[in-house]
Amino acid sequence: MQFATAKQALPDERRRDASRPLISVVAPVFNEEACLPELVERLHRALGGLTDEYEIILVDDGSRDRSAEIMRRLAERDARVGYHRFSRNFGHEAATTCGLLAARGQTVVLIDADCQDPPELIPAMFAQWRAGFDVVYAQRSARDGETAFTRFTSHLFYRLLKRVSDVDVPIDTGDFRLLDRAVVDAFNKLPERCRFVRGMLSWVGFRQTGVLYDRDARLGGETKYGFTKRLALAFDALCALSDAPLRWISLCGMAALLLSGGITLGVFLDAAFAGGVSTLGLVAAGIAMLAGVQLVSLGVVGEYIARIYRESQGRPLFVVAEERRPLADCDEANEGADSEYSQAS
Ligand code: UDP
Ligand code: MG
Repeated sequence: MQFATAKQALPDERRRDASRPLISVVAPVFNEEACLPELVERLHRALGGLTDEYEIILVDDGSRDRSAEIMRRLAERDARVGYHRFSRNFGHEAATTCGLLAARGQTVVLIDADCQDPPELIPAMFAQWRAGFDVVYAQRSARDGETAFTRFTSHLFYRLLKRVSDVDVPIDTGDFRLLDRAVVDAFNKLPERCRFVRGMLSWVGFRQTGVLYDRDARLGGETKYGFTKRLALAFDALCALSDAPLRWISLCGMAALLLSGGITLGVFLDAAFAGGVSTLGLVAAGIAMLAGVQLVSLGVVGEYIARIYRESQGRPLFVVAEERRPLADCDEANEGADSEYSQAS
């Protein structure tokens, strides 16, 4: 099927393949029953103002609430809505990857399902794409509904990542962004299992720009990123983009060596001038510190080894239990969407 529609007024000079919809939207979904209907309605409104040639792909990451049921209903109501339902919770990054593999659009928008990323920003992002940019990321100028602690740690994390990473990762950006087909194709070729999607999208390169927005509070439900999950993601990001943690170990080791040298000197001086002072406390502190540094170092190296092990296992990133592609009559584009990561059951 060719996508020729009433809103063809859009001069799509960047369009290379008329069999593709102009825009695909991909939203990972995990227990978002409170947000899904409004998200899809707002997407229809925002995208409908631009073109009729769009598809919305919802990826249910093993939700335990009514998200799957709501997704099915939304897909029945409008053929431009499709979905994939995972057999269990595989994580946000796997859900995003599945959506990017399934998306057929000339451009693909990644958006969270909780309406924290306003669909109304898509036209501004799309305008930047038409102006020639391949990646248009939404950059947060304000964040509502998040604790001061989350805001502070996120602020620190983005700046640390920018400083240590080997590629240019824009600060204060999440996954909310619009990607050109060339970027999506390049991303879909990246084989790693330990994924930090926005970092990988920076690694891919191309012409990138940002659009500022105020991040709203989530519409309903609660964040799935507690402190430990955030920490795990931060470490995945650091490992994926930089060898800095390994360098930090060497620095810690050197600092510990210097300190223990100082302590030893102190013990000798003490013995020489103060005459046989008990230095047990000092020695114990030195040993404890060295043991601490060694254990932390082992832990960091272990994290890398665990990631190497996971890569070498070569398991699929996710398992799809059920799916319905949007605009199912558009078979030629559907054919290319099969995933080397997934395994239909
Ligand atoms: N999400 C997911 N799988 C998970 C956790 C989250 O697909 O295991 C989705 C979630 O439904 C949302 C997006 O990822 O659409 C971002 O999650 P969340 O809003 O909880 O993160 P936050 O905005 O608090 O950082
Ligand atoms: Mg959120």
